[in-house]
Amino acid sequence: MLTTDFFKVEELLTPEQRLITQVVKEFCDKEIKPVIEGYAQRAEFPVQFVRKFGELGVFGPTIPKEYGGGGLDYLSYGLMCQEIERGDSSMRSTVSVQSSLVMWPIFQFGSEEQKQKYLPGLGKGEILGCFGLTEPDYGSDPGGLKTKISKTQGGYLLNGSKMWISNAPFADIAVVWARNEEGRVQGVIVERGMPGFTTATIHGKWSLRASATGELIFDKVLIPKENILPDALGLKAALQCLDHARFGVAWGAIGVALDCYETALKYSGERFQFNKPISSFQLVQKKLAEMLTEITKAQLLSWRLGTLMNESRATTTQISMAKRNNVEMALQVARESRQIMGAMGITDSFPIMRHMMNLESVMTYEGTHDIHLLILGAEITGNPAFK
Ligand code: FAD
Repeated sequence: MLTTDFFKVEELLTPEQRLITQVVKEFCDKEIKPVIEGYAQRAEFPVQFVRKFGELGVFGPTIPKEYGGGGLDYLSYGLMCQEIERGDSSMRSTVSVQSSLVMWPIFQFGSEEQKQKYLPGLGKGEILGCFGLTEPDYGSDPGGLKTKISKTQGGYLLNGSKMWISNAPFADIAVVWARNEEGRVQGVIVERGMPGFTTATIHGKWSLRASATGELIFDKVLIPKENILPDALGLKAALQCLDHARFGVAWGAIGVALDCYETALKYSGERFQFNKPISSFQLVQKKLAEMLTEITKAQLLSWRLGTLMNESRATTTQISMAKRNNVEMALQVARESRQIMGAMGITDSFPIMRHMMNLESVMTYEGTHDIHLLILGAEITGNPAFK
C-alpha cells in the first residue's frame, strides 16, 4: 500500500501492483531498515541481500518467466524500486544494476544460449552482475571509451579498465562495453576467474556506503566468442540499458522522499518547542506542504511514465526528465526534512542524512543532473549542446 498518496495514485494500480508494493515494503521494513544503518556506517555491502532479493523476485521483474524473470510490467518494477529505496539507495542500486543493466541487456542483446546460461541464476540471485561503461577518462562522454576488444586466435582479447562500477567487487559476471577493431562499441560478458580480469574496491565514499563500488581491470583477457553479446553493437545499445535503469532510479527517488517526509512529519508532531509541537508552526507546515506537493507531482509523473513504458512508447527524454526531476525533488525533501529535525536530523537515529548523502551519487550516476537537462534542451530546441 502506498503510505503517502495524496492524489490516490494507488487507485490507478492493479491489485497485483498493490500487492507487490505491500510485499516489497514489508521486506524493506523487516529486513533492510533494521540493519542498513550499520552497513552504511561500516561501508560494508550486505551481500546476503543478493540471495534475498532473488527470493523476493525483484531481480529482472520485467524479464519473461521462462528466462527466470518475473514476467511483470514496468509499473511493478518501478514500485519495487520505490519500496526498496525507502530502505537505502545502495540496495536499489543493486537491484537496478542486476535487473536493468545485466539481465536486460542479456535478454535484449544476447543469444539464446547466453539467456539460458545466465538469466535464471541472475534472477535467483545465485550470481551477481555488474555493468561496465564508465572509464577513468570517460564519464558523461561514454562515446569516447578506450577499452579495446580485438580478434585473436580462439576468441577476442579485452584490454582496458572501467571505473565507478556498482557491484564490481562482488560480481560474478560483468556486462562490459568495449571498442572493437571497426571502432564500434560492443557489449561482452566477462566472467570472474577469466585470467587477466581483476576488480578493485573503491574506498572512501561518503555516499552509497552500503554499495560496493569498484574498478574492472582487463589485462589481455581472452574472451571466448560465445561471450560476445551478438546484438549489443553501437553505443545506442548501452544507452538503451541506461534508459531502463533510469526508469527505476526515478521511482526509487520517490521512495527516499517518502521515507524522509514521513520521518519528518512524525517527528514534527512529537517534538515540542515553545510549549507546542513544532508541526504547529507555519514555517514547518510550509516545508511539509511543499514536500508533499512535490512528492505527489513525482508520483503522477512516474505513474504516467510507467504506463508509457508498458506500451513501449516512453522516450529517452521523458525518462531523463523523470530521473532528473525526481532525484532533485528527493534531495530537496531530504534537506528540508533534516532542517525540521534540527540536530537529531544529522544522527544515525534517523535515515535522513544517509539518504541525503546517497542521493548525491544518484544525482550523478545514470547521467548527471546537468546532462539530463541538456538531453531535454537538445530535444526541445533541436540544438544539442553536448555533442
Ligand atoms: P564527468 O563526466 O567528469 O562530469 C563532471 C561534471 O561536468 C558534471 O557535473 C557534469 O554534469 C559536467 N559535464 C560534463 N560534460 C558536460 C557538458 N557537455 N556540458 C555541461 N556539463 C558537463 N558507471 C557505470 O558504467 N556502471 C556503474 O555501475 C556505475 N556505478 C556508479 C556508482 C557510483 C556510486 C557513482 C558515483 C558512479 C557510478 N558510475 C557507474 C559512473 C557514473 O555513471 C558517472 O560518474 C557519471 O556518468 C558521470 O561521470 P563522471 O563522474 O566522470 O563526471
